[in-house]
Order: sequence, then C-alpha cells, then structure tokens
Amino acid sequence: MATIELERLVKRFGPATVVHGIDLSIQDGEFVVLVGPSGCGKSTTLRMIAGLEEISDGTIRIDGRVVNELQPRDRNIAMVFQNYAIYPHVTVAENIAFGLYRSKLSKSEKRRRVEQVAETLGLTHLLERRPSALSGGQRQRVAIGRAMVRDPAAFLFDEPLSNLDAQLRTQMRIEIKRLHHRLGTTSVFVTHDQVEAMTMADRIVVMREGRILQVGTPLELYEKPVDVFTARFIGSPT
Ligand code: ADP
Ligand code: MG
Repeated sequence: MATIELERLVKRFGPATVVHGIDLSIQDGEFVVLVGPSGCGKSTTLRMIAGLEEISDGTIRIDGRVVNELQPRDRNIAMVFQNYAIYPHVTVAENIAFGLYRSKLSKSEKRRRVEQVAETLGLTHLLERRPSALSGGQRQRVAIGRAMVRDPAAFLFDEPLSNLDAQLRTQMRIEIKRLHHRLGTTSVFVTHDQVEAMTMADRIVVMREGRILQVGTPLELYEKPVDVFTARFIGSPT
C-alpha cells in the first residue's frame, strides 16, 4: 500500500496549461474519487501519477519517495482503463499473466499467482476462455485482474465503468468497493458520474479547469459545497 502526494503539480501541453499546480495528499489505503467535467484534467493527473505523462512542474511522491523521474514500471502502480485494454486473441489467463511480463517469478509461480487473482475476482471458471466469449462485466474483471496480479501499491482507475450498461455499472461499483475492502489498496478512481463518486469515495476531489475546487468526504461535500458548481454536481439542495 502507498501514500500518494501531489505538490504544486503542473501539466502544460505546448502553450496550454491543463493542470494548474494542484496539491493533494492521499493516505495509505484511501479510496479517492476525482470528479469533474470532461476536459478538466482528471486523466492527465492520473497519467502523471502513473508515469505515462511527463510532469511539467511540481512533485509526485509515492510512499514519501519522489517519483518524478521514474518509469511507470518502477512506480509499482497499476492503471485500469475504461476501454479494458485486454487482448481478444489470447485467453483470460494469458491476459491476466500479461501483468507479470516483467516479473522474475518462475512460470509455475506466475500460474499460481494468476489463479489466485482469478479466484479473488470470480474468474476461475473462465481462465481458458477468450475475452470475446465474456460479458462486459467479466471483461472489466479481467482488466482489473491484470492490474492486481503484480500486487501494486496503488490502483488508478480511469472511468473504468463508463462503457457498461446501468445495471452492470452498479454491480461493478459494488465489486470494486468490495475488492478495496478486502485488499485495502490505495485507489484513485476517476469518474464524471456523481453516483459513483458519492457511493465509492472515502474522499472526493472536485476538479474544474485543471484546479482542485474542493476536497472532502461525500457528506462534507453534500452539506457544505464550496460553490454552486459543486453543489449541482453532488446533488445538494441549492
Ligand atoms: P479529463 O480526463 O478530465 O476529461 P484530460 O486530462 O483528458 O481531461 O484533458 C485535460 C485537457 O488537456 C483537455 O483540454 C485536453 O484536450 C488536453 N489534453 C489532454 N491530452 C493532451 C495531449 N496529449 N496534447 C494536448 N492536449 C491534451
Ligand atoms: Mg479523462
């Protein structure tokens, strides 16, 4: 598990500044939800934490260590994407094992680890299937399995449920939270869905135009939104 600290974090794309020096401290084991309208910088922030996007200024610390210069693979953080990013041509087991491709485990240790993860996610009976034979929810679980298999210090979720239908979204929301209760892994979950934010978060971070407007528990945000924007988003009476 890990703490994640962002200090005056800045991202510029050419002349455009899309993240304006944000400060955020995420505690060990915390489930933090980043919300805000499309284009406000949520994915860019996650990608900087994962090391998939260079930072323009500021500092990122994971467990107290500055990781600004570290490659993604050296940050011990796993990212779960919206579009699953799983391979249709190979089995579920191979898709999950892909998360171990740089690992030094032996073949049989890898297999054991994949089976362990499949068990946790209820995928054991599907290990030899191909993703094309799976439902949307099962595919999403495979994507989570690939992230989990390395036993990362933190999970970063970028709108992982956006492509699912309403019923499946609700189910996956519950499953991801259940997994979090079980594993206790620090998680940053990006969404633009207020229900997801309100029901999943230990703390919600409200972003707009590359800035953090407010940070608080769902109840704090509901009771004391800093402005009308947050109030509307959270669904507080205004
Ligand atoms: P969100 O995930 O909140 O919808 P993003 O982090 O994807 O927002 O994008 C924030 C802003 O940065 C947007 O204005 C987007 O157009 C811009 N942006 C994102 N990636 C790039 C890029 N590779 N090059 C230029 N601009 C980008
Ligand atoms: Mg995004």
